[in-house]
Amino acid sequence: MHRSRKAKIVATLGPASTDSATIESMFRAGADVFRLNFSHGSHEDHKKRLDTLRALEQSLGRPVGVLIDLQGPKLRIGTFANGSVVLEAGASFRLDLNAGQPGDQTRVALPHPEIFAALEPDTRLLLDDGRIELKVEKFSAESAETTVINGGTLSDRKGVNVPGVVLPLSALTEKDRKDLAFGLSLGIDWIALSFVQRVEDILEIQEIVQGRARIIAKLEKPAAIDQLEPIIRAADAIMVARGDLGVEMPAEQVPAIQKRIVRVCRRLGKPVIVATQMLESMVTTPVPTRAEASDVATAIYDGVDAVMLSAESASGKYPVEAVTMMNNIIVQTESDPFYTESMTAHQSPAQAEIADAIGLAMRTVADLLDVAATVAYTSSGHSALRMARERPQAPIIGMTPKLATARGLALVWGVHAVLTHDVAGVSEMTDFACATAKREGLANPGQTIVIAAGMPFGTAGTTNLLRIAQIDHESGDERKQQ
Ligand code: PGA
Ligand code: MN
Repeated sequence: MHRSRKAKIVATLGPASTDSATIESMFRAGADVFRLNFSHGSHEDHKKRLDTLRALEQSLGRPVGVLIDLQGPKLRIGTFANGSVVLEAGASFRLDLNAGQPGDQTRVALPHPEIFAALEPDTRLLLDDGRIELKVEKFSAESAETTVINGGTLSDRKGVNVPGVVLPLSALTEKDRKDLAFGLSLGIDWIALSFVQRVEDILEIQEIVQGRARIIAKLEKPAAIDQLEPIIRAADAIMVARGDLGVEMPAEQVPAIQKRIVRVCRRLGKPVIVATQMLESMVTTPVPTRAEASDVATAIYDGVDAVMLSAESASGKYPVEAVTMMNNIIVQTESDPFYTESMTAHQSPAQAEIADAIGLAMRTVADLLDVAATVAYTSSGHSALRMARERPQAPIIGMTPKLATARGLALVWGVHAVLTHDVAGVSEMTDFACATAKREGLANPGQTIVIAAGMPFGTAGTTNLLRIAQIDHESGDERKQQ
């Protein structure tokens, strides 16, 4: 089974997508990577969903990617005596460290001393995804007097964003450290780190993870946008986390930032996911708005690796329909000749390494010979990433003896990952690649494939070989294998 599209779908699991029948339907409808969001739910809930995914992977014989999303230092107010209050524009409202005292019309707890330490006069505080805006008038190390600029209902434990202020916070909280240890013990493939502000945040988690999983940096802080290229270089993949980004920065700036992030990721060959509210109205209705369909298509035209569903698949009424809709929009967009044309616009890296040269050569061969498929025989996934970076028209088969690599490649543009065993030499690898392309229905006898690999086999990051092969009638037969 292979998908007939290049871009991938990440679907978040939650209360609306817990039973195995729904999860299997979501996979069949097109979800390539499943996201377990540790901002919600217990370890037990997540473990149950992961067990379902691993069982599904076994029964379907296809690698399924899993990503855990760490909450990060999401700042929240405390609770109110009556659950919520209505704040009127122009009113005064106090925030303080007094977590033991329930809030009322005049004040609420904000149990984060680091916010008070970082305040300046006129700092704007945004609450509840930006719906409520407060302006700081006076402040001390323990409290802040504010004026309500945009009022509304404010309820228990709503999030607080402090746009434009670099808070001296690690992207890893105590909760994140526990969640991370739990995720690593389960053998998770991808870990998303929220509210990354600097390269050091990524280095810190890498130090703990020690290569056991790949790291996705969620870009949702203005400080991270100022450090874009170093952060993208340090991470294994990037998420354009438009939910918080659109609160931290004026909404009108997000589209251009999204496009800039995607461009830099593509240039550096790092997978990039566009996330949040892509089909938001499908939380409650079975069809998206025209604007939402257009938002997904725009990301696809930009050449992103993956688009993501959050509430739509985690807590909405139509989780499977949302995946189906996203799949249909991607397939339709990719069938537009303009899409194929725009994918060919290509920039060579400034400091090319051998793998970049092999990737580019592969692309040239693929175009000249009109190959049926390209194959990356890859241990770490590096060769497959370099090929994906070229955005070739022919499918990329990511052949790997490592299950973790196969799962990791589920996120990558155009890559159809296939688990294989180790090979001893080039001719065995070539036979194997031909047999795999044929078996997966991606090439027929008489057609040509182009293979990239690294010698010695099994050593990560050694891409140095390009092999062109023709599928013959015996490819994959017992006779040939002997
Ligand atoms: P979240 O991240 O859903 O974990 O907040 C994504 C975003 O902010 O867009
Ligand atoms: Mn976020």
